[in-house]
Parts: sequence; C-alpha cells; structure tokens
Amino acid sequence: MSKWHLLLITWTLPALAGTDRVTEFCLAGEFDLGARLQGMAPQSSETYPTSWCVITEDDSPRVRFSGAGKSNPDMDGGWTVAYPTPDLVRIVNRQAPPDVEFHGVDNSDEAARVRRVDPRRLVEEFRSTPNSLTGLRIEFEEERLLSVTTSAALPLRGRVAVIWNWDWSNPSKPALRLMVDNELLFEAIGTWRDLTADESSSVWDVTPGAEPIEVPGDRWPARINMQIIDLTDGVYLVRGVRTGFQHLVVDTDEGLVVADAPAGCGEFHPIPPSDLVPGLGVSGLSEKFIEFLGEQFEDRPIFAVALTHFHDDHAGGARAFAARGAEIYSTAESAGFFESALNRSSMPKDQLTQRRGSLQVRPVADTVILGREPNRVKLMSMGEGPHAYAMLGVWALDKDYFFVSDVHVPRSDADAPRKERAVTECWFAEWAVNKLPPEVRVINSHSDSITPVSRLADYLESDLCKAL
Ligand SMILES: [Zn+2]
Repeated sequence: MSKWHLLLITWTLPALAGTDRVTEFCLAGEFDLGARLQGMAPQSSETYPTSWCVITEDDSPRVRFSGAGKSNPDMDGGWTVAYPTPDLVRIVNRQAPPDVEFHGVDNSDEAARVRRVDPRRLVEEFRSTPNSLTGLRIEFEEERLLSVTTSAALPLRGRVAVIWNWDWSNPSKPALRLMVDNELLFEAIGTWRDLTADESSSVWDVTPGAEPIEVPGDRWPARINMQIIDLTDGVYLVRGVRTGFQHLVVDTDEGLVVADAPAGCGEFHPIPPSDLVPGLGVSGLSEKFIEFLGEQFEDRPIFAVALTHFHDDHAGGARAFAARGAEIYSTAESAGFFESALNRSSMPKDQLTQRRGSLQVRPVADTVILGREPNRVKLMSMGEGPHAYAMLGVWALDKDYFFVSDVHVPRSDADAPRKERAVTECWFAEWAVNKLPPEVRVINSHSDSITPVSRLADYLESDLCKAL
C-alpha cells in the first residue's frame, strides 16, 4: 500500500466517523426524459435539469429523498419522501402542507436502497454489512465507489441493465453517469454538505401548519383497488386499477374496448430501482386488470385496447391484452415503436410468452371506428401536443363520453384550468372544442372530474388560456 493510499484513507476516515452527523448529498445534472419513455417522443436526448438529494445520518437508517426536475415535458416535478422511522413513509409537502403519512409500512429495504444514492453510504454499507448488497455488482478503488451494476424490469424495455458509474477526478464532487439499457439516463455532479444543527433537528419533523393526512401503510407506494363505475348503458370506468389510474371500458358488439394498458413504472434513484406496483413486473398489472374485467363482464371477450400515447405507465401493459387476443391500437406515429418495444426478447415471462404470441399494432392515422351502433368507439388521432408528440382519444361515440390521458387532469369543476397546467389544458380545450360536440363529456385517466366540452369552451375564455 502506498503512502498516498494511507494518507487518503486517514484523511477520509474522520468524515465517516462523526457521531450524529447529518449529511446531504445532492446530484445535480441533466435527466433524459426521452430515455425514461416519459418525454415528447420515444427516443433519447430529451434532457432537463434535474436534482436528486438524500439526507442521511451516521448512526441511524433514516433517510430523506428530494427530487426536482420534470416528470413529463409539460410537468414540473418536485417531491420529497422521508423515512423517519422504519414503519412510516412521509410525503413531505413543505410548499403546500399537509404532509401525507403512510403508517404501518416496513420501509427498511426501501430506505436502504434510497440511502445508496450517496456513494459514501454505499461504501459504508459494503464495509459493515456486505450481505445486504447481494445482487448488486460493486466496483471500488480504495474507498471510492466506481460502479454499481444491477437490473430492472421496465415496461417497453423488459429486463435491462442499470449501471451507476462514478468518476472521482474531483474527489469532493464525484460525477455520475447512470446508464439504463445502454442509454444515459442521468448525468450529474454530486456534492456533500453537513446540515446545520437547526436543519438537523427539523428535517425529520412534520411540516408545520397542518396535521398530516394519515393513510394505511398498505397503500404505499400504490394500491390496486378496482371498482367499476357504470357511466351509462355499455360505457364504464374502472377506477383504482392502481392508485390514481382509471380506464374507460366500452362494451361493443365485438367485445370490450379498453383505453390504455397500465403498467407500474418504477423510480430509478433507489439501488436497485423500485417497482411501483411491487411484484407485478411488466405485464402483471394489466393481467390483473383483465382478470377483473373477466369477473365483471362474464363471457365478453376483450376486443381491443387503445393506447393513448407511448408513455410506459399507459402503454407498458399491452402484452397482457395481446395474450388475450385483443387488437392493439395506437397512433400511427407510435405503432412501429410499440411493435419493436413490446416484442423485445428482454421481456420477462408473461402470459404472451406462455402463448408464444407476438404483438401487432394497428396504426390510427386519423380515425378508426370500432363496433356498431348503439355502442361504437371512435379512436381519434389528436396530433402533437405539449405532453407527447402524438396522442389518441377514445370516444364512446353513441354515448357522448370521450376519454383522454394526461392532457386533461382537472382537480375541480372550475371554468378555468390550473395555472401550472395551463399550456396543456388550454391546448386540449382548443382541440376538444374544435373536434367534439358541446354535449360530449370528457373523462380522464387521473381525476374523477367529468368535464363537458362546453366547460372547455369556458377554459378558452379564461385569462390563462387567452394569455398563451
Ligand atoms: Zn403521459
């Protein structure tokens, strides 16, 4: 061992050995929403400034994660999740309390995975409990982490490698290149700082000003609680496919037509990455959804699923529908992408593999009508908007319901959109007012509000839309 090596170790040890020290490690850089399959188009090189920060302590497993960046091209995302005790997960809403607390969770594994964002914490873990890192391939040089290799099963990609590469050219500011499926997902520079005594004492507290909302632990991170809502004869909404996701189902003479094929898309900051709906892999959530439809609509085949856009949470479960013989429809722009993505050999075993099937996609260039009166479905290509380069709308043509994902998510029955969503909401309002009769009611994937097109006409008269 060289003198220089000895020197490095003695120099770094005091930093690791303090008592009750609370440290924040932040990565700031560029995140590729395109490679994440949540951007404008299904291709890489659509990057946005993003930061990930973890607060950890020397002598306890508790950890707090904050992310800031965009979750979609039209959506600024900022979120903080704290793991203050092993049985509590808290979504921290410092800007707009209350916090939301999930009680009775066993978060020890998840907290440990989040803690590993800080490469020094991962090295400490390797030194103290190497068995907890089984399944990760880790490379060190002296006390520095060089890489961590793991894998994840992702909708529209299958089982792929996830590699954190660290470069220590500047020892106090390590550079990260996070590779997923051979694409660069996040390129960032890391920095540490010690929290002040004041910060350290308040960082695990509930946000002052409001009592937290308490939620049973089995709803974390997402819950499946499917319920069918009868909108009108032959037109249904299935709520709770997972937390915050609902789907239109139309009973046509050919069989059921479903809007969107859900999949749980995980987070990438934990090591290894997390499943949003644990245990269900790529196709499992849609397989469960189809099972539920089988119970609700005995003897009715699933005729078709219409994928509203290429984002993995809305389309990643399409293999489950193909396994049941359903036709898969998408915008003409996305059809080729879906056929190659959903048929990749990296897809984990599911019902489609068991049936040795492959998946074909029927492109919707303009409109396609499925079924016959009195329950036709009209699929409408909506063109490029602020959320994605191509969107599909699903219209229960004879019953005046229109379903759309992600471009219309009202939180109330107000006559104007939410300010932070104005660009997208006004874009959709303009499209709907031009293409749909005023009596049509718009339902959406993520909120319970139903919006008549006449109200979307009011949106266009609002100051927010007029200012665009
Ligand atoms: Zn989307």
